[in-house]
Amino acid sequence: MSPHPPVPVFQPYLGEEVKKAAVDALDDGWLGMGPLTAQFEQEIGAYLGAGDRPVVVTNSGTAALHCATALAGAGPGDEVICPSFQYAAGHQAISATGADVVFCDIEERTYGADPESVRALISPRTKAIMVVHYAGIICDLDAIYDVAHEHGVRVIEDAAHAFGSRHRGRPIGSFGDLTCFSFGPVKVITSLEGGAVVGHSPDDTQPLHELRFIGIDSDTRTRYERGRNWEYDVVRQGFRYHLSSIPAAIGLSQLAMVDGFISSRQRSCRLYSELLADVREVTVPETDWADVSPFIFFIRVPSDRRADLVAHLKAQGISSGVHWVGAHQLTYYKGCRRSELPVTERVASEVLTLPLHSHMADGLVERVAGAVSGFFAG
Ligand SMILES: *Cc1c(COP(=O)(O)O)cnc(C)c1O
Repeated sequence: MSPHPPVPVFQPYLGEEVKKAAVDALDDGWLGMGPLTAQFEQEIGAYLGAGDRPVVVTNSGTAALHCATALAGAGPGDEVICPSFQYAAGHQAISATGADVVFCDIEERTYGADPESVRALISPRTKAIMVVHYAGIICDLDAIYDVAHEHGVRVIEDAAHAFGSRHRGRPIGSFGDLTCFSFGPVKVITSLEGGAVVGHSPDDTQPLHELRFIGIDSDTRTRYERGRNWEYDVVRQGFRYHLSSIPAAIGLSQLAMVDGFISSRQRSCRLYSELLADVREVTVPETDWADVSPFIFFIRVPSDRRADLVAHLKAQGISSGVHWVGAHQLTYYKGCRRSELPVTERVASEVLTLPLHSHMADGLVERVAGAVSGFFAG
């Protein structure tokens, strides 16, 4: 047994202000979607500088991805290209629409979709490209949008890792096509469960509202008012994906602290990178973290040493994780059309996620990094 307390991979910040926000919202007595939901959307939009792009919050990041993929028009007979190296939520969002998932490879520098691999997979059936900003590091977005524009297909950014990350100085979600965030339990900011879609233009507002709330078409004011509108129409297949008041209140309290969360996480990532720089077997991410809102800190290690390293850390009370295994190897997605995936296969066998928390003590980062370097020195 380790003499030190255990170190989880993730540790949500749940200070007094967060608890107070939840209790205040409970005391208010209105549990459903209401003014706090609308306020959460406005404040996300203001934080991102989304301008007239609609921000539509949902009850999970997966729901946000599902709404965005449906809005992009994907359905049975269509294809959506995305990396195999992505969380299952993205693949499930695509297959939930009835469209086929097509797997592209990733590139070594950003761990995001390789634009050339995407280009080679485009077919007459392609409806959209879904990309991920792994760990908060922005994928080769300009090249991805070039491919999308050349072929007239939509882009869905799975930015579940990248709330607060910037591309050429602009926040993710303030430009581009459809951007999805997650505010799940372990994300940089959380609303317990939650997510958001940022649409491309005001034209996306109405369809996103319908998709989020069981296909119901009603005006925005009514939607957030305390009371039900008995005159409504159902205009499409939608889902019960709306975000209610208590999660919205928690999300608002977290959003107010996000800059501190991000800068503390950048500081921990830089410290990790510095402490692990001289360990020959360890590769740290190739970024200075300046424009990155880091969701995870990951390293790459020789694949034949990874399981032993995990056990070594565990014996010292340190948890680690693997994000992710290639989805083309998973039962449900085995048969999907795909390109060769050499980088995906190499990266998926080498990545290891180390603990990263908001306001993580330097001593804790030092303890984890010391355990990693101790393993390779031993
Ligand atoms: C967390 C996550 C999601 C899904 O978000 P939920 O809120 O858990 O539904 C999607 N994509 C990625 C990359 C994620 O990390």
